[in-house]
Amino acid sequence: MDDLILRTIEGLKRRGFEAVGVATKAEALKIVMNEAEGAQSVGWGGSESLKEIGARDALAKSGKEIRDHQTEMDLFLLSANAITSDGVIVNIDGTGNRVAASIYGPKRVVYVIGRNKVVNGGLLEAIARAKRCACPPNCRRLAKKTPCAETGICADCDSPDRICKVTAFFDQPPRHTPTKVILVDEDLGY
Ligand code: SF4
Repeated sequence: MDDLILRTIEGLKRRGFEAVGVATKAEALKIVMNEAEGAQSVGWGGSESLKEIGARDALAKSGKEIRDHQTEMDLFLLSANAITSDGVIVNIDGTGNRVAASIYGPKRVVYVIGRNKVVNGGLLEAIARAKRCACPPNCRRLAKKTPCAETGICADCDSPDRICKVTAFFDQPPRHTPTKVILVDEDLGY
């Protein structure tokens, strides 16, 4: 497993997160399904990474009630826009519902994060990564009329469609929300 991934797992554990590294999407899916085994309701944080590992289809097939962006649920699944190699998780939202659900409400939160989201620098580099690599393609995917959707570059815009309104970073898991990170040694999402 890549050294950057191993260091990130150590950083997460030091901060009190549960953390596990896997080599493939298939292994990540297996862990997600184990996590969901006892859950009736599963929150869905609008994640391309989770779609790419096949989690949405597998959860639906196993009869789970999938709730999009709600806060009361047994398990909330999501990815991150970036993570530092010492384990700080960064997410940027327009509405804030994904971030809100990852802080308080669900009984348990599980992230699936691909290696492409890990940055070797600190928090500012993680935020920069989110603005550079995640927000522009998300704006295009969601058909938002923002400068980055056209140019691929953040202009710190005042567009009504701006999706970067709330930036949350997690030094440690929130007090009442047990949080696990599945770090995958493959690229996932953006
Ligand atoms: S601030 Fe505006 S231009 Fe910059 S990434 Fe966010 S939506 Fe795109």
